[in-house]
Amino acid sequence: MRRKVIAGNWKMNNNLAESQNLISKLITGLSSQKTNCEVIICPPFTSLSESSTLIKDTVIKLGAQNMYFEENGAFTGEVSASMLKSVGCEYVILGHSERRAIFGETDELINKKIKKALLSNLKPIFCVGETLEERESGITKDVVKRQVTGGLKDITVDELEKIIIAYEPVWAIGTGKTATPAQAEEVHAFIRELVTGLYNKSAADNLIIQYGGSVKPDNAAELLSQPDIDGALVGGACLKADSFISIIKAA
Ligand code: PEP
Repeated sequence: MRRKVIAGNWKMNNNLAESQNLISKLITGLSSQKTNCEVIICPPFTSLSESSTLIKDTVIKLGAQNMYFEENGAFTGEVSASMLKSVGCEYVILGHSERRAIFGETDELINKKIKKALLSNLKPIFCVGETLEERESGITKDVVKRQVTGGLKDITVDELEKIIIAYEPVWAIGTGKTATPAQAEEVHAFIRELVTGLYNKSAADNLIIQYGGSVKPDNAAELLSQPDIDGALVGGACLKADSFISIIKAA
């Protein structure tokens, strides 16, 4: 039985004081209940160090939203894997559709980042998903296959154990439109089948595949009850402690 993993992607939201406030509400809300799923928050870089201090000795784990694949040097504005480790990150989101669409990230670049994260002992939350145009053209599985295969190029079966894949249909991110549980399950099952072919059945059976795209308290339980959906990557609804906690409860 795979564990469930709920991650909150804060995106470019919450300054330091706002981050402290949200984390304090999350800690209070989560301390009064038994949580049997894994909970991760991914604040912006500027709040990581303080967040790490605040969540110490709680069930909440820390992730970043991006990193660069080089160790250090003349890469103005970038942050390295070892820098993320030094402020207490365990996870890093890589290949988010906003990084792909707005910042031009390619499968090849994302693959380099995944390899560097693994070498640095950071666990990638590797995002894939099709645009509306791609879905309507009937090429969802081709796109997801290209992204998964490209992102996992030269990744060993042992390394795969450290990776979470997040299936996030781009048309469902921040739009209020959610994939139906059946639509999401179909692609999750396809990813698991793909990973069986790329690696083996046991690696695919153990792989955590999160769904992301307008997950809310009122749709989380149904999505999370699908056999191949092992958690959620939550954007908008993780910015309010109450709604993020409700999603965690649903898991
Ligand atoms: C995301 O950005 O990963 C996401 C799923 O956002 P939202 O939940 O707001 O659609």
